[in-house]
Amino acid sequence: MSRSDELFARAQRTIPGGVNSPVRAFRAVGGTPRFISAAEGAWMVDADGRRYIDYVGSWGPMITGHQDPDVLAAIRAQLEIGVSYGAPTEAEIDMAELLCARVPGLDMVRMCNSGTEATMSALRLARGATGRDYILKFEGCYHGHGDALLVKAGSGLLTFGVPTSPGVPADLAKYTLTAQYNDLASVEALFRDHPDAIAAVILEPVAGNMNCVPPQPGFLEGLRSLCTREGALMVVDEVMTGFRVGPAGACGRYGIEADLVTLGKIIGGGLPVGAFGGKREVMEKLAPIGPVYQAGTLSGNPLAMAAGLAILRKLDNAALYDELERATTTLLTGLRERATAASVPFTTTQVGSMFGLFFTDARQITGFADVMRCDAERFKRFFHAMLQRGVYLAPSAFEAGFVSTRHGAAEIEQTLDAAAEAFAESR
Ligand code: PMP
Repeated sequence: MSRSDELFARAQRTIPGGVNSPVRAFRAVGGTPRFISAAEGAWMVDADGRRYIDYVGSWGPMITGHQDPDVLAAIRAQLEIGVSYGAPTEAEIDMAELLCARVPGLDMVRMCNSGTEATMSALRLARGATGRDYILKFEGCYHGHGDALLVKAGSGLLTFGVPTSPGVPADLAKYTLTAQYNDLASVEALFRDHPDAIAAVILEPVAGNMNCVPPQPGFLEGLRSLCTREGALMVVDEVMTGFRVGPAGACGRYGIEADLVTLGKIIGGGLPVGAFGGKREVMEKLAPIGPVYQAGTLSGNPLAMAAGLAILRKLDNAALYDELERATTTLLTGLRERATAASVPFTTTQVGSMFGLFFTDARQITGFADVMRCDAERFKRFFHAMLQRGVYLAPSAFEAGFVSTRHGAAEIEQTLDAAAEAFAESR
């Protein structure tokens, strides 16, 4: 029995499923989740001392790898002077100014503690600001576990086949309308059926919770014009894509100005954080200056601000993003070549350093239906074959992967060597 086996058995006695977030449990791929004891750069070490090249990166935040020295130094400095005050600090202003300067369309921002809080709060604000009740989301997109957003959702819900969670009252779920990603006609139809009633359209600008599905040309622009025409707010959920797909996130990369943007993951440098922001006239509807209530004991936490500012200052560097994108392209090109050599139907998607792996003979992945046609059984076999060879992929066929600046030529080469064998073994 491995140490991870022991820990997993022990964990299941006091933690539901043995984990504090469902997809970590390996239920979709089978086997024992690896309990992690340490990490450095592109690598993680499990409780049995085995080393893995990590393509999960804490589900996105670790864009400069684990144990970034600048982030650690900032956290250490803050540790000496306080971990939480419950009163305003200058670092919160620095963070707000930095986010407003970098993210298109952000005049004001409010910090919170997770991506879930960011999207929940943004939707409440959108409803409060427009006086409308309906929201529109896309099937397979995940925006955290707020009630209204657990309808036809991606990530763990898709992985476990429960896209709409029990516990969300039908009376509430009926206000969540779902359209098809990359399909503007499906959005237009919902606007037609619910005139002047939709408060917000919320979307992942690059879908990363049903594997990785990039927006088709014109999709984001089309949504922008539809929202403007219909008087609905466009809420771009950049929790995953923010500072990941480029120095100004997906909004910057695709030239889109949202009404509200949600952020998380990278902006906390690995500490728990979220944020939402947008146009001044909308944000000024928030308490304490407006009537829409939103709050948080630990919001704007000094440690999280210190870590976040350190990483964001480091990411003000276009060359770093070019390099990340090149490394990711090398990885994916290599994977496709190894798959072809092993006669395994396989394709990939990529936006910057975010990627998707698909066991399919489809040439193009444009939406939920393409994702669902992939061979999940083969993914499982591939996942375990890679894990055995020291490569840690997301334990689900419905999650995006991430490359960090610490994934150098050696790590990529080692990943490709493992993949050559793993593809053959997955047949
Ligand atoms: N939005 C998106 C796009 C996400 O990917 C996630 C988490 N993966 C969330 C929201 C929720 O964030 P959190 O897990 O921090 O609550």
